[in-house]
Amino acid sequence: AKHDGKGSHRFFENAMDAEAQARRAMEVDLHDALRKGELELHFQPLFGLSQNRVTAFEALMRWNHPVRGMVSPIDFIPLAEETGLIIPIGEWALHEACRIATSWGDDIRVAVNVSPVQFRSSTLNSIVFQALARSGLEPQRLELEITESLFIDNVEATLASLHSLKVLGVRVALDDFGTGYSSLSYLRSFPFDKLKIDRSFIVDLLANEGATAIIRAITTLADALGIETTAEGVESSEQLDILRSEGCNQIQGYLFSRPIPAGEVPALLMKLSG
Ligand code: C2E
Ligand code: CA
Ligand code: CA
Ligand code: CA
Repeated sequence: AKHDGKGSHRFFENAMDAEAQARRAMEVDLHDALRKGELELHFQPLFGLSQNRVTAFEALMRWNHPVRGMVSPIDFIPLAEETGLIIPIGEWALHEACRIATSWGDDIRVAVNVSPVQFRSSTLNSIVFQALARSGLEPQRLELEITESLFIDNVEATLASLHSLKVLGVRVALDDFGTGYSSLSYLRSFPFDKLKIDRSFIVDLLANEGATAIIRAITTLADALGIETTAEGVESSEQLDILRSEGCNQIQGYLFSRPIPAGEVPALLMKLSG
């Protein structure tokens, strides 16, 4: 009704204010989070099926907020991207991941997520170079995970940046493969080292015959192109059995381990190799 239009409008404005204020508060906190040492990396193993051991860990960021507790990256990475804070935060993550990985065995890689915002900034190449130089990590032990959304606006520029990263000797994985903007032409244009098959396909595996066909198509294609495949979000041994028989190279998911603090990595390696 018309007569309460003003009231609901004001209510809406207040709600907007509250939301904007909450966002602003979180932005201020996030700005200081790095300096205060509130950010940390957790690590989730990728289990190689042919090697029958852990071949890599993916670094996943956590924000240990003094009041909010552990904040999920889903809740602060988008804010970090909008504000540009992802540039210093992402730089820290690359340095931290490389530093920590040097304490693992030489045959274990570390995978680091790179936001499209970082990717499009002109500094990524030198930041990766610095992280390798300072840590002493062999370049082939660092894997950068990027998403297909990078290819939406400027395919040429994306390919050029990817090639200059490859010159450093690092590996590049295409994350969340099969969602969104998938185009097979990217696979022809750029030598990805790995495809990470999105969790949504893994979730469907047992319920849906079509999901197995999709996994088979991806692993067949990847094999033919000399690209590795990792299935993410694997939670059950039934899923594992299907993925093994479809020729998936690595398995990542709660079935093996949740992401864990760096200090727990040695014990997990013992457990998963014994
Ligand atoms: P992602 O790169 O696709 O990472 C996989 C997500 O799936 C992680 O969520 C992981 O904890 C979760 N996961 C792993 N195994 C399972 C499973 O078996 N079941 C289920 N349900 N989930 C599983 P997380 O740690 O909350 O990270 C969410 C997203 O935040 C990541 O998705 C990535 O896009 C982003 N992110 C995390 N760390 C970073 C970072 O350092 N930099 C950037 N730019 N983004 C990050
Ligand atoms: Ca990832
Ligand atoms: Ca993923
Ligand atoms: Ca994902």
